[in-house]
Amino acid sequence: MPDPVVIATWPFGETAVKTSLPLLSKGQPSLAAALAGAQAVEDDPRVNSVGYGGIPNAIGTVSLDACVMDGKTLACGGVAGLENIRHAAAVARMVMEKTPHILLVGAGAQQFAMKQGFPLESLLTPESLTEWEKTKPAKKKRGEISVIPPDSHDTVTVLALDQKGNLGGVCTTSGLAHKLPGRVGDSPLIGSGLYVDNTAGAAGATGVGEEIIRIGGSFFVVEQMRAGKSPQEACELAVKRVNSTAVRRGVHPARVAFLAMDPKGQIGAACTVGTNFQYAVGKGAKSELLKAPELGPEGK
Ligand code: ASP
Repeated sequence: MPDPVVIATWPFGETAVKTSLPLLSKGQPSLAAALAGAQAVEDDPRVNSVGYGGIPNAIGTVSLDACVMDGKTLACGGVAGLENIRHAAAVARMVMEKTPHILLVGAGAQQFAMKQGFPLESLLTPESLTEWEKTKPAKKKRGEISVIPPDSHDTVTVLALDQKGNLGGVCTTSGLAHKLPGRVGDSPLIGSGLYVDNTAGAAGATGVGEEIIRIGGSFFVVEQMRAGKSPQEACELAVKRVNSTAVRRGVHPARVAFLAMDPKGQIGAACTVGTNFQYAVGKGAKSELLKAPELGPEGK
């Protein structure tokens, strides 16, 4: 029987780990435990980039993206552009369980969630509104697109291994603050923000979603593990790919981070320079916060 392991992005991932770990220790399946952990972060109004209290988009609306994946069956589900429903990850799970589809967006996702009994509520808090006002880009002329403040985002991605040796993962976010209405990031996209397969490993991402989508980030990491790389090597290869892609495009590499777990519960993480990526790890009865190595375009 493997020791349960759970990892989650950013210091607020500690909330997820501390919620998931006791559930895994009691024998709960990885996906249910990871979802409970992610939901604890969605419920925390102090986390202004996930769920309730997330920073709004360009027109002041909180719009959530999330997905879930089960490593045993490859069952998965997601929602994008979900408004006024805080538990986006739980809705993604319902999409997985109750529909023949994988991704529901916008009004359709909201109607589906309401039919499943999720309550409608405002996700704005006085704090998130103040933060939105403070970080709002300067008024642009008609037709000009606003520049998104570089630090106004972060996602909780939770990867778990349960006592039966099954992997499960959840990814949930309000995405980039001040994003254009309708913008969808990596987080609800299976293969970009999250990918989980018992036969190779689990991976998740956080950071500028456009750059994660561009390289098919989480699928890339999992396929590296399938090819024999350790979770650490696989994450570093993904960061190198982000960096080399930026060099090809003549831009500075964006803030992007990956984390991964193999089917034995070994873990890894890496990020681009300046990301300052920390992640929470829970194993046995212990949880700790680790810092991921930063890799620049020259591979250092
Ligand atoms: N990946 C998220 C997005 O692009 C944001 C983040 O994790 O920082 O929507």
